[in-house]
Amino acid sequence: MTNNIGVKFGTNIDNLSEEMLIALGVCYALMNTMGLNFVVTSGAEPDPVHKTNSLHYSGKAIDIRIREWPKDMAEEVTRRLKKILDIVGFDVVLEGNHIHLEYDPHLDDDPLMANVT
Ligand SMILES: [Zn+2]
Repeated sequence: MTNNIGVKFGTNIDNLSEEMLIALGVCYALMNTMGLNFVVTSGAEPDPVHKTNSLHYSGKAIDIRIREWPKDMAEEVTRRLKKILDIVGFDVVLEGNHIHLEYDPHLDDDPLMANVT
């Protein structure tokens, strides 16, 4: 069982946005329920390891380790995270060896955000 949030050495989660901190809590709760380890492998590192316009640099993205999970769990977690977070402006993408989660609201597209001014 998961008891805490793991953070890969060198990963910076200190500068995550408030939205991402809430998303961290959602991830923690979901993975705890599913009995999966929750390890953040990338946050808001200043090093140019991501694409130039990546939301990682502004603290609005994290990467989640999937390699320790049983087969097909990455797809299942991605599906469930989308179901919870997509509607409030998060994008969840399964990218090869990790799940990328970013806060990128499209106010017109997200039903719950459409009336936010
Ligand atoms: Zn990422």
